Amino acid sequence: MHVHSLNEPASQNQAPMTDPFGRAITYLRVSVTDRCDFRCAYCMAEDMTFLPKRDLLTLEELDRLCTVFVEKGVRKLRLTGGEPLVRKNIMHLVHALSRHLESGALEELTLTTNGSQLARHAAELADCGVKRINVSLDTLDAGKFAAITRWGRLEKVMEGLAAADAAGLKVKINAVALKDFNEDEIAPMLEWTHGRGYDFTLIETMPLGEIGEDRTEQYLPLDLVRQRLAERYTLNDIPLRTGGPARYVEVAETGGRLGFITPMTHNFCESCNRVRLTCTGTLYMCLGQEDAADLRAPLRASEGNELVAEAIDAAIARKPKGHDFVIARNAGPATGRFMSTTGG
Ligand code: SAM
Ligand code: SF4
Repeated sequence: MHVHSLNEPASQNQAPMTDPFGRAITYLRVSVTDRCDFRCAYCMAEDMTFLPKRDLLTLEELDRLCTVFVEKGVRKLRLTGGEPLVRKNIMHLVHALSRHLESGALEELTLTTNGSQLARHAAELADCGVKRINVSLDTLDAGKFAAITRWGRLEKVMEGLAAADAAGLKVKINAVALKDFNEDEIAPMLEWTHGRGYDFTLIETMPLGEIGEDRTEQYLPLDLVRQRLAERYTLNDIPLRTGGPARYVEVAETGGRLGFITPMTHNFCESCNRVRLTCTGTLYMCLGQEDAADLRAPLRASEGNELVAEAIDAAIARKPKGHDFVIARNAGPATGRFMSTTGG
């Protein structure tokens, strides 16, 4: 398969798009598929209905849309999902997008993956200029891993990580902190990740999508986790900011970095620099709000990119100030969308 726009370089950056609150939008996350080979208990219901394949943007269309964003000043692209590496021929898109790294229009091309298919793709990702990847891993116990992912095998992820190491990819491990599930594993995972030279980030579970379980049973506030870790480790705040919701510390004893993503206990929407595109071409300006813009219709309405560029501008002009997640009994999800739809 050939990605047609391969030869069209993104014109060099103009000033970045700015939203009504003065935030520069320089980061696009793209959910390339809503499908996944896992069914993590906090992310998906057991019996998920996925989008019919005909509703998906083609890889060429995804490339075209990403390119428009790059032309509009996006400097960082993250592919996510669902599981990005289960999308058929996904490496064609990665290859196509890598031209923006070569031209300097894009600073970083990266992905978030569950690691199950990483062994097959790590070397090629590195060849495409991908430098860092996020791998989601909530436990190092094979039995617990099988339970939380419902369908996954830890061994596969470990093979994927070994391949990432061999390819020279920098790895950040993301773990959702889950009450009574991995609470006791957080310190051992910290030691393990830092021992392998990985960054480690903890995430609070967010109320996205009806998963068929009570989220109050899962929710573990990271304030508490941090407090407990501080009894054993020296956590030094570091100024690293990614424009995202993570705050980082350096752990003196391990020399590694630990991040806290706290959408529940603190939101950091004031520094939000991102928008999210789904595999059907819907643009969400906020993970926790329903408002969205359809980019598929303007994309398909003409060969040129003017219409879609206008639709993007109109969408950014209504990016909301922030979200207000609540996890409480009977509160229900903040949005009906699953994390795998909008792209985590
Ligand atoms: N499948 C890939 C993976 O798992 O890395 C990419 C998509 S997944 C939706 C992205 C991240 O969102 C994962 O780290 C996952 O743990 C996290 N996630 C999923 N549902 C979540 C929820 N309800 N609250 C917080 N994080 C969630
Ligand atoms: Fe799949 Fe990632 Fe969701 Fe787990 S968190 S079900 S791996 S999309």
